[in-house]
This record gives sequence, structure tokens and C-alpha cells, in this order.
Amino acid sequence: MRKHIVAGNWKMNKTFNEADELVSDIIEKLESIELDRNTQIILCPPFPYLEMVSDYSDDSYFLVGAQNVSDQESGAYTGEVSAAMLESMELDFCIVGHSERRAYYHETNELVAAKVNQLLKHHLKPIVCVGEVLEEREAGKQFEVVEKQVREGLFHLSATDFADIIIAYEPVWAIGTGKTATPEQAQEMHAHIRQLIEKQYGKAVADETSILYGGSCKPSNAKELFANPDVDGGLIGGASLKADDFIGIATAF
Ligand code: PEP
Repeated sequence: MRKHIVAGNWKMNKTFNEADELVSDIIEKLESIELDRNTQIILCPPFPYLEMVSDYSDDSYFLVGAQNVSDQESGAYTGEVSAAMLESMELDFCIVGHSERRAYYHETNELVAAKVNQLLKHHLKPIVCVGEVLEEREAGKQFEVVEKQVREGLFHLSATDFADIIIAYEPVWAIGTGKTATPEQAQEMHAHIRQLIEKQYGKAVADETSILYGGSCKPSNAKELFANPDVDGGLIGGASLKADDFIGIATAF
């Protein structure tokens, strides 16, 4: 059975003390609830807080991921963080190809593919974001756009490597806007992505791939989104910054 995953993407938010407070609040809440055994919680804080958050967890409450990685192995790339560095901190995951990185830092599918390769080489699991912008949806091009992102970002991988991939479908028009895809819109895109994976790698791989939904997911809409057969959890932005909301979503299965 594929994993249910609820991952918090803190983006560029919180000071060190605020981040410390958030993670201890999350742990306190996790201690008071019974989480579904198949649900995995992942926290993706900013780079400077990765060690603090990892130390808190010791893998017992949640796993930890970064929000970005370099496509290069090492060397003179000022300001970049390599997959080898993340591996040496014993991190488990890393978000790649978030729409904010695609839009503000011009990340292409080719760059996403190179980052995915670096992560897999260093034994981290990539959480690969795909999704269409509003004009693409309005033009009825959402399936085509997402297919291109999936193909160009991921389909160079072998089936064995693909088994470590988590996909997050995040319609860009729903990110941080308060607009959420309807459960039907989420399900049809997730089913589309799973079909693409099945055609490329076969049913067993497609059935095991966790496909998360992202885009204004909140405690009030998580239940109906997660009730869809192809929605295996969420990548949560704004609502991951409040322990109550984040845990409200994590308990929505
Ligand atoms: C995100 O950016 O990954 C995201 C899903 O953001 P939000 O939940 O704030 O829409």
C-alpha cells in the first residue's frame, strides 16, 4: 500500500526561535493524537533550520526534507547547497521544481531532472512539484503541461530509481491564493499522472507512487481532497506554519 504523506513546506518563513516553537508545538500535538500508521509526516524548513528540526525529531515523529538543492555536485557555486551536503546531514527528502522556483528562479524541466539525479545519487527522495498556471487551465492545457513536466523531469529514470519519487500536483493558481482545486479536479489530474507512470513503468510502480496535492489545502478541505483514490496526501504551504492547522490536515485521512 502506498504511503499517505503530509509534507509541510515552510518556504522562507520564521526566525530561528519561531521555527523552534513551531516544531515543538507540532511534536506536542503529535503526542496527543493517534496518527494513521500509514501516514508519514515530513517537515521542510529553510536550510538554516534543518539541523535543529532534525535533532528534535530523531525520526520518531516526522522525517525532514529540504526545499531545494543544487544541480551540481560540489565546487564554486556560491550560495548553493548540494545533495551530498543534505545526505551528510542524514536528511530524507527534498522538494524540487516548486512553482515558485520555476517562476522566480527560471527553473526548467531540464534543471529539475538534473536536481532529481543529484538527489537520487545521494540517496534522498525527491518530492517533485508539477502543475499548470491559470492561463493554461483556462486554455484547457493542464493535462498537456503536467505531462510535459513529468516526462521531461522524471521519465529519464529507471523504474528502480523512479520508485523513490514522490510527485506533488500543485495547480499554481491554487498556491497561496485561498483557491483550492475541487476534489474532482485534483482526482482527475492525479489519475492522469498515475496513468502516465503506468504507461512508462508499469502498474506496480504506478500503484506504489505517492501523488500529493498542494494548493491552499486546509483542515476544512483536506478530508474531501484526501478521500480521492489517487490523492495520497498533501504538500502544505501556508497551513504548515500553524501547528493546529498542519496537524488538522495530517489527521484528515
Ligand atoms: C505550496 O506552495 O507548496 C503550497 C501548497 O502552498 P499553499 O498551501 O500555501 O497554497
